[in-house]
Amino acid sequence: MSAVISLARPEIVTLKPYAHAAWLPSLTRLHANEAPWRPSGDSTVAGLNRYPEPQPRALISRLATLYGVHTDQVLGTRGADEAIDVLSRIYLRAGSDAIIQCVPTFGMYQVAARVQGAEVIELPLRSTQGWQVDAAELLAAWRPHVKLVYLCSPNNPTGNLVGLAALEQICTALDGRAIVVIDEAYIEWSRAASVARWLGRFETLAILRSLSKAHALAGARIGALLASEELIRLAKRVIPPYALAQPTVEAALRALEPGEIAASQNRVDALLVEKEYLRQGLAASPLVDKVWASDTNFLMIDCRDADRFMSASMAGGLIVRDLRAHPALPRSLRVSVGTRAENDALLRCVGPA
Ligand SMILES: *Cc1c(COP(=O)(O)O)cnc(C)c1O
Repeated sequence: MSAVISLARPEIVTLKPYAHAAWLPSLTRLHANEAPWRPSGDSTVAGLNRYPEPQPRALISRLATLYGVHTDQVLGTRGADEAIDVLSRIYLRAGSDAIIQCVPTFGMYQVAARVQGAEVIELPLRSTQGWQVDAAELLAAWRPHVKLVYLCSPNNPTGNLVGLAALEQICTALDGRAIVVIDEAYIEWSRAASVARWLGRFETLAILRSLSKAHALAGARIGALLASEELIRLAKRVIPPYALAQPTVEAALRALEPGEIAASQNRVDALLVEKEYLRQGLAASPLVDKVWASDTNFLMIDCRDADRFMSASMAGGLIVRDLRAHPALPRSLRVSVGTRAENDALLRCVGPA
């Protein structure tokens, strides 16, 4: 039995999936109890009165091309968030299983694990090591009841890529022992290539991708889980059949047309230039002590006076993210790179008097 299956909750492996209405678009649909008319204001191609195609083939095919994997290695999800939820429900048994996460990091890993009743093992990242994951330390913390190991690269909120050697060492050591989940929600902003090319190499590797950030579709809720065909097959049993709403599917298909992908790449490049402008401006602020290097579309800053930074921004009608609730980030805030006008507005609020 493959490890993807043997690591999963047994009740998921034996689950008889929900049988949704057959998807046979050439036939008139009298099998799904839908209304035969369109609601007013419906601008979708397929009609909002109709249930959407589960895991729409055209979209999955475009996602597979975009990420350089086979269509059988893709699950379309309501954002990367839903991929985290699905993995948690497949692999975490209440009261016995655990995840490892390297903190500070994205908050949803531990929320999804706790919802599932699983233990959360935290490995501290250290500012003195540039927030790098220590592979040896992580492997020493691993125990057989750890089913999911999360690595966020580039990491939110620290902004750094995880070193490729560390990722490879962890994937190699834990292959077949745990699902190693590499979250690449910000990879488009970085100079690094996706590790999707490792899918053939590591049986229990899973990768999270998102159209929320670099493809500007946060409101549509669309992302993807990339993993072995076997894991994707399990995930399709767990995800609701109509997870992807029709307006979302159509918006994602538009965003993934070749011309749109090229335009999106140009916007990403322009934003990276803007990030450097914002970085210099923030570094010159008397309220800011340090601007961390970033492989993302945001900057983490350590403040001399974070309260004043927050209140000055608020007074100018801008909000940045307060990270100080995390013990490792007692003076840190996170700033998303905006338009030139937005960035200038922020710099006027916090800049030299
Ligand atoms: C934004 C974010 C996500 C979630 O993305 P969605 O696709 O919008 O659900 C996942 N991981 C990280 C690290 C993020 O910052």
